[in-house]
Amino acid sequence: MSDPEQSPTESISAELRIGSENLRFSVEITNEPVHIHDLLPFFQRITDKVVEIGVKEAEQQGKCISCKKGCGACCSQLVPVSRAEGYNLLNLIESMPAERQQVIRARFAQNIKVLKDAGVLQMMEQAVSNNDRMQLREVGVNYFRLNLACPFLEDQSCSIHRDRPLSCREFLVTSDPVHCADTNPETVESLSLPKRISPIIYRMSRDLNEAGRGYLPLIQILESAEALSSNQASEPAIDLIKQFLQNLTQN
Ligand code: SF4
Repeated sequence: MSDPEQSPTESISAELRIGSENLRFSVEITNEPVHIHDLLPFFQRITDKVVEIGVKEAEQQGKCISCKKGCGACCSQLVPVSRAEGYNLLNLIESMPAERQQVIRARFAQNIKVLKDAGVLQMMEQAVSNNDRMQLREVGVNYFRLNLACPFLEDQSCSIHRDRPLSCREFLVTSDPVHCADTNPETVESLSLPKRISPIIYRMSRDLNEAGRGYLPLIQILESAEALSSNQASEPAIDLIKQFLQNLTQN
């Protein structure tokens, strides 16, 4: 976002009914045009609040969250990220010290190689390009079977926890953790959320770039660097927030 010292800011506050709770929020924005990725900290904050509501509702139904610190069993899944998140994650990698970057880049390259050798990369690209749910589900199972740890997973914990994708924030399970490494997705019960923010951000990313889809697999962000850095449309922050709220209330 533009430097707040140089551009005047205004504060937007709202209250929305999400599931069984009222979600109140306020956000400081400038009058300058911004990109969706500039607003990601705000979208992350809203996602975390919606997840909190989902957890509370699950607990009221007698369920409890099985996810614990140090358990990264679900971090071998195909993780979708919006173009906006892909762009910020690229910047995050580029801001890392050279040695660390090398390690992370090597993990990405290794996973891509395994996916390619197993014929899953092509299937994945096709499913994403067709935006076909059934195909994506099938590819997701094949991807998980390869047991490829996310390049950001360290000692079974997310090394970019504060910046992790919205889809990772939204994925919590209420079933026995013993099933989390199971390749049969039917045995895992994921937390049901009153709203999901990630698809809204995929849609908003797509709307700003008609030529491309709004999301991509996390594992492909490095090879998509050029595409992620180009066609970055910008709009006044207030318009993006309005679009977001409209999507949130319609969803
Ligand atoms: S980004 Fe973090 S939470 Fe998401 S899959 Fe990777 S290690 Fe897991």
